[in-house]
Amino acid sequence: MPADLYGRFASSFSRFADRPLIDTGECTYTYDEIEHTAARLAARLIAIGLAPGERLLVQTAKSVEALILYIACVRAGAIYLPLNVDYTEAELAYFVGDAEPVLAICDPERVVLFERIGAPAVRTLAQLFADLPEITAVSVPRAADDIAAILYTSGTTGKPKGAMLTNANLVSNGETLIDIWRFTPEDRLIHMLPIFHVHGLFVAMHCVLFSGACAIFLPKFASDPAIRHMENASVMMGVPTFYTRLLADAAFTREVAAPMRLFVSGSAPLSADIHRAFEDRTGHRVLERYGMTETGMLASNPYEGERRAGFVGPPLPGVELRIAEFETGEVLPQGEVGIVEARGPNIFKGYWRNPEKTASEFRADGFFITGDMGVIDERGYLQLVGREKDLIITGGLNVYPAEVEALLDDRADIAEAAVIGVPHPDFGEAVVAVVQAGEGFDEAVVASALRHDLAGFKCPKAIIAVPELPRNTMGKIQKKLLRERYADLFATAGA
Ligand code: AMP
Repeated sequence: MPADLYGRFASSFSRFADRPLIDTGECTYTYDEIEHTAARLAARLIAIGLAPGERLLVQTAKSVEALILYIACVRAGAIYLPLNVDYTEAELAYFVGDAEPVLAICDPERVVLFERIGAPAVRTLAQLFADLPEITAVSVPRAADDIAAILYTSGTTGKPKGAMLTNANLVSNGETLIDIWRFTPEDRLIHMLPIFHVHGLFVAMHCVLFSGACAIFLPKFASDPAIRHMENASVMMGVPTFYTRLLADAAFTREVAAPMRLFVSGSAPLSADIHRAFEDRTGHRVLERYGMTETGMLASNPYEGERRAGFVGPPLPGVELRIAEFETGEVLPQGEVGIVEARGPNIFKGYWRNPEKTASEFRADGFFITGDMGVIDERGYLQLVGREKDLIITGGLNVYPAEVEALLDDRADIAEAAVIGVPHPDFGEAVVAVVQAGEGFDEAVVASALRHDLAGFKCPKAIIAVPELPRNTMGKIQKKLLRERYADLFATAGA
């Protein structure tokens, strides 16, 4: 198989020419149709001045055109740089300054903004697609190590960093995933994720494109259309909130899920509670996997074999995972909690124009320090216990939020919990649980149950009920925001 990403797409375009690639529910596009339009669009991008290695910045609503633009950009040999549609002007100005794109594509209402913040050329998708030339561009050859895409990662501290992903990173990860998840041209994947993020763009779309499958391509998650399309679908990929919301819908039944062969979850922890409830309702065990922008996918529960609730599975073939001591880098024995480190063909090339940051996140032997804390059990399954930055140190003792959250999530009177550390005059940090309360919630009952199951220092010093936990577009709970909100909770305690 070709080592360059467009070469990999091209192999599918020729093998599956007449097969459907995109089904919007209203319209179907074959591989051939998408390839033809992408080729013409690539010619236009090149004519505008998008040379190999130059950046194409894209901030648009999800659409078939936006997806074709991605394929065209790869074909033109340029670097694709998709951005979350929620970014504000100040954030966009930073991205434009940092990435120096030659061309920015945005929705019509943002053209003036992009011009104001100094993007050199700005177009809408409609302008880009108008009267496309009939000529088909030759695809621009790219080497395995050339950068195909830059994705900015939110990061918990500091400015977002642009993760540079090479052709080989994306090809190797896609090949591995279609193999371990058994993708075939018969597959139809319900695609309700955004396409500015690794999950919707690379994991979901590369599984489809590499295997000759079809994406049921919908603007965003909603349980009605998800349920409707399952009759004619085989795979769904989602963030945990998709599954929570499906379970909240009484119309989502065992019969509805019966035609499906696989439900994949990732980007945020899927609670063991939801995992079990999903199996009780549908008979399917959700397949949870783990990855990140910088690395693509790293670990996955097996397709055949045991999918364990609360675990993200063994490393993918070709990927090495190990647990180390964060400060010293000393590799820890199996069974100990530490920082997850990864090495493999899928690990990114570095942060865009940030060699210092890149150097500080790799060990000397090439392992990338993920920033996630975890433990590997005796069967080689990885369990995540929280981000290193979310680790709570209270009175000198470590508390891993995931351990406390798992107990809270398991309770019928709590929908979901986020456990954070906030400043405390005596303990340095205090454990605080912020919970989305369900029926019959009583703080005293929860506190006493936790005292029964957990060592005293791990028990929250406060349990705060809120109507809803703050999340980002990928369904991740925004702990940073919660820490800010409750920073003064113990400001006067002990004083
Ligand atoms: P992103 O770069 O936005 O994809 O975020 C990557 C981060 O999401 C990882 O470093 C993990 O902290 C988290 N993550 C991804 N998948 C999972 C999972 N299955 N369980 C828990 N956390 C996850």
